[in-house]
Amino acid sequence: MPHSKNQLLARLGAEQLAQFSSHLKVVALGQGELIADTHGNVRKVYFPHSGIISCIVEMKGGHAIETGMIGNDGAFGAAQALDDKVSLNKVTMQVPGSASAIDADRLREAAERSNAFRTLLIEYELFMTAQVQQTAACNAVHSVQTRMCRWLLRMHELVGNDMPLTQEFLSEMIGVRRSSVTRVAGDMQKAGMISYTRGRLHIVDIELVTMNACECHDDVRSHYDRIMGGKPYSATLKL
Ligand SMILES: [Zn+2]
Repeated sequence: MPHSKNQLLARLGAEQLAQFSSHLKVVALGQGELIADTHGNVRKVYFPHSGIISCIVEMKGGHAIETGMIGNDGAFGAAQALDDKVSLNKVTMQVPGSASAIDADRLREAAERSNAFRTLLIEYELFMTAQVQQTAACNAVHSVQTRMCRWLLRMHELVGNDMPLTQEFLSEMIGVRRSSVTRVAGDMQKAGMISYTRGRLHIVDIELVTMNACECHDDVRSHYDRIMGGKPYSATLKL
């Protein structure tokens, strides 16, 4: 079933997924596509199969910083669908891909019929809170290069060694001036970690990137495993 390409939906198991899969549609999402605007209504919930959804906080004066990344191990909009359907920040497609999409109302109905599905979505939201808190601490304490390496580890986990990326976008992701990104990216290129050509970034040596990353990638991963890991959602799901 294509929807099982998303790890959250796969956790439900085929039988339970089939209960609401007629409402899920596979959609292609282009680079830079707006998924939700700050304080905008969330009408659809996305369970990515590939690519990366990015949550970005925009400041007055033009500054913006990424606070969360969502890949095929997550979802966007589920908590909003259960509640008031408003997005807290700007959400865009950072790396193009595809997703299973469902109307927010249909998702809420499915979650209302199933304690296990609702629990899965709430636990994922708890993980997202952990990710955002870790990112806040990381941005305040860790150096630009260690943060960039952390960010690349997550990118590598979700899309592999190659990614479409402009330095302008990267500076938004890391939350520093473009000149700082250019300098650090140049240092990393000289050190043999990455190569960068117009609009595309390639990870040359993932071990070197791992060695130079701050601990936050591992910390976020362990939060995910602790909150989401090993739960037999399919065994307890009742629709
Ligand atoms: Zn960090």
